[in-house]
Amino acid sequence: TQRKPTTYEHIFKFIMVGDSAVGKSNLLLQFIDKRFQPNSDYTIGVEFGSRSIMIDQTQIKLQIWDTAGQEKFRSITRAYYRGALCAMIVYDITRRESFENLASWLSDCRKFSSSDVVIALVGNKCDLEANRQVSIQEAQDFSKEHGLIFFETSAKTGQNVDDAFEKATQQVWKRLQ
Ligand code: GDP
Ligand code: MG
Repeated sequence: TQRKPTTYEHIFKFIMVGDSAVGKSNLLLQFIDKRFQPNSDYTIGVEFGSRSIMIDQTQIKLQIWDTAGQEKFRSITRAYYRGALCAMIVYDITRRESFENLASWLSDCRKFSSSDVVIALVGNKCDLEANRQVSIQEAQDFSKEHGLIFFETSAKTGQNVDDAFEKATQQVWKRLQ
């Protein structure tokens, strides 16, 4: 049988975790489709999206797994850390509790993904400055302490969304060289 020549493709698996309603699904939607859903439904289990970006003149396809934040899905989520090159832990800058829960998400990341996984901390909903409950400074301190890269984003306006995914991809790329 004849085979078409295939071009080699880099595929990076990403996983998005964090409390329910922090904006994980909308970050993915914004990154992949440049869209925002004001009243999005809860993610059931795990959803998936992909987009290719260029890093160092190399095409990289990101396969991004979007998980549900609720505790009842936690064991499902845990299975998806496997093989992930980047974990994005998302919190909501207007909901303090989602920041307080970071330690538990971080602990899952460390336990269930590989030791060289790039972990990005994403403080979402930065368009809601008036309702801010987590300062940039303390999020930066937390990131520094745990060796994470940090971004504030808005899935609503799109602010910093591409940048967060691109910088995280660059970091993964660097680790693989
Ligand atoms: P998930 O449970 O983490 O996937 O969160 P969703 O993406 O479903 O978002 C939860 C709610 O927050 C929805 O009503 C979204 O419209 C809203 N939301 C998500 N991201 C943002 C954001 O950046 N800014 C604002 N103002 N609302 C957002
Ligand atoms: Mg969701």
